[in-house]
Amino acid sequence: MKQSRKSLPKRHSSLEERLSRARRSRAVADAKFRARQAQGKLRRFVSANFRKDEVIASLALRRGECNRCGACCEILFKCPFLKKHKDGTTTCGIYEDRPNVCRLFPIDKRDLQEVNGSCSFYFIEKPVKLEKAS
Ligand code: SF4
Ligand code: SF4
Repeated sequence: MKQSRKSLPKRHSSLEERLSRARRSRAVADAKFRARQAQGKLRRFVSANFRKDEVIASLALRRGECNRCGACCEILFKCPFLKKHKDGTTTCGIYEDRPNVCRLFPIDKRDLQEVNGSCSFYFIEKPVKLEKAS
C-alpha cells in the first residue's frame, strides 16, 4: 500500500545542510546589496551630472551633518583617496577636488540604504513651510 506524503516521517535536516542553506541565503543577500549599491552609484552619477533640478529638490529635504564615517567612500569598493584615522573618522585625500557625486552624498533617502545605517544625514517627507510673521 502506498504511503501518503503526510504520513511519511519528517526528515530533519543535518547541521551541515542548515549551515549551507544559511551560507547560500547570506550570499544571495550580499549579492542583492551589492547590486543595489551598483545601481545607486549609477543613479547618483546621472543625478549629479544631468538632473540638477531633481537634486536641488531632494537636498531641500535633507537634514543632518556628516559624521565623517567614510561609509559612502566604500560603496562597492574602497576609494583610494579615503584616509582612515585612529579615532574612527575619515578624510578625503582630494577634498577640494572631489567629484560632485561625493560632494552631494546622500542625494536622497535611497542612498542611505547603501551604507548600512552609518550615515548621519536623514530626509524629511515634505519641505517645511515658513509661516508669515504677523
Ligand atoms: S574622492 Fe574623496 S569623497 Fe570621493 S569617494 Fe574618494 S575619498 Fe570619498
Ligand atoms: S556616509 Fe554620510 S555621514 Fe558618512 S561620510 Fe558619507 S556623507 Fe558623511
